[in-house]
Amino acid sequence: MVTIYEALDMIYNHITPKSTHIIPIEAAVGSIVAQSYYASFDLPRFDNSAMDGYAVKLADAGKSVSIKEITYAGDQRETGFSEGEVVKIMTGAPTPAGCEAIVPIEEVQLNGEEIILPEKIQSNAMIRYQGEDIKSGTCFLQAQTQITAYSLALLASQGISHIEVYRKPKVVIFSTGEELKAHYEKIEPHQLYNSNAPMFYARAKELGCDVSYLASSGDTIEALQAAIRNAMDADLILTSGGVSVGDKDFTIQAFEELGMKKLFTKVNIKPGKPTTFGKLPNGYVVNLPGNPLAAMVNFEMFVKPIIRMLSGTQSFYPPIITTQMRNDYRLRGGKYSVILGKWDGNSFEPIDNQKPGMVSPLYKADGMIVTTPQTDCFKTGQLVKMIPIKLDLITDKKEDFLM
Ligand code: AMP
Ligand code: MG
Repeated sequence: MVTIYEALDMIYNHITPKSTHIIPIEAAVGSIVAQSYYASFDLPRFDNSAMDGYAVKLADAGKSVSIKEITYAGDQRETGFSEGEVVKIMTGAPTPAGCEAIVPIEEVQLNGEEIILPEKIQSNAMIRYQGEDIKSGTCFLQAQTQITAYSLALLASQGISHIEVYRKPKVVIFSTGEELKAHYEKIEPHQLYNSNAPMFYARAKELGCDVSYLASSGDTIEALQAAIRNAMDADLILTSGGVSVGDKDFTIQAFEELGMKKLFTKVNIKPGKPTTFGKLPNGYVVNLPGNPLAAMVNFEMFVKPIIRMLSGTQSFYPPIITTQMRNDYRLRGGKYSVILGKWDGNSFEPIDNQKPGMVSPLYKADGMIVTTPQTDCFKTGQLVKMIPIKLDLITDKKEDFLM
C-alpha cells in the first residue's frame, strides 16, 4: 500500500505529455500551448491617441489655436503641425509628428472657428506609445500554459491564426459489474444503473479530453478482456469496479494478463483504498472502485492530475484553498480520510451524510479536505486546506464588492 503522496509522486514521475499538432486559435481554447510565442512587432504598432481630442504643442497652453485638420483611427500618420495650430484626433488615430500631448475634447472651449486650450497641459498626456503594451521580441505566451479567450486576444493582436498545442488526451471509460445497466436501458429490480461512467465521461470532457465510453463489462476475465482490447487505443483507460477483494473482482488481473504493469494497487485513502494505477505499452490505466463516492473522490485525487499531465500543462498539482470550518465536525480518525463539503467562498461545511456507496453527496460537494489519522475533530472557524472540485465562483448572493 502506498500513501497518497507516494501515489501522486508515482503519477508525477511517470506521465509525459502527448504529441502536438497545429490548429486554428479559435479551436485551441482549453488546450495547452506547446511552444512559447514571441511578439514580431510592437503593440501598439505606432504612437496614437488615447482620447477623442486635439494633438497639441505645450507652448500653446491657454491660447486660442486653429484646427489644421482631423485625423481618424485607421488614417495614416499625419505629417505634422505648427505652433498656433492643433490636429483634431480620434481615439486610436496615429499622433501627428511633433505632437506633445493630447487634450480631450471635453477640456477645450470653442472660440468661433478656433478652440481655447486649457492653461495646464501635461507633457505626453493621453498618448499611447508604440510598444508600451507588448515589445517586439518579448515572449507574450508561455509554453505549457492553457489557452483562454484572453490568450486569443494576444495571439490575434499579433496576427497569429494557428498555434501548436498538445493533442487532447484520449480517454476510454468502462464500468464493470454484472449488476449494471446503462441509464437508457430497461432495468430489473435486482439491477443498478451505471452512474459512474456518465460521470467520468463528463468530468474528463470538462478537463479537456477526447472521451469515449464503452458498454460496461461483466465480471468474467473474458468479458473484461474484451472491453480492454476495445479500449487499447486510449492514452488513459479508466474503469470502475471489481478492484476489491470480492470473489469476482478480476479487473486488475484481466489488465495484467494483457500487459499492464502495476505502478500502485492500493492507496492509504478512505474511501477508495483499492484504486490502482498501471501502465500499458501505449497508455495508462486507472482502476477505480465501483462505489460512486469513492470513485469520484479518487478521480479528483489521482485521475485529474494524470489528465492534466497528459494534456501537456505544468499545472497539475492539486490547488489548495485555505478556508475555515463552518461548524464543529467529528470524524473517526485513524485513517487518511477525504471529507466532501460545500464551500461558499468563506467556509467549508462537510456534507452530512457521506458514505462511499452514495451518489447524492457528489452533486452537493464543492471541494474536499484530506485528514491524517491524527485528526478526529474540527472546531468552528478552524482553518482547513480545501481542494476545490467545482469552482464555480458565480453566486446567488448580491454582495458589496467595492473596497
Ligand atoms: P465493486 O467495486 O465492483 O465491488 O462495486 C462496489 C459497489 O459499487 C457495488 O455496490 C456496485 O454495485 C457499485 N457500483 C459498481 N460500479 C458502479 C457504477 N458504474 N455505477 C454505480 N454503482 C456502481
Ligand atoms: Mg463489481
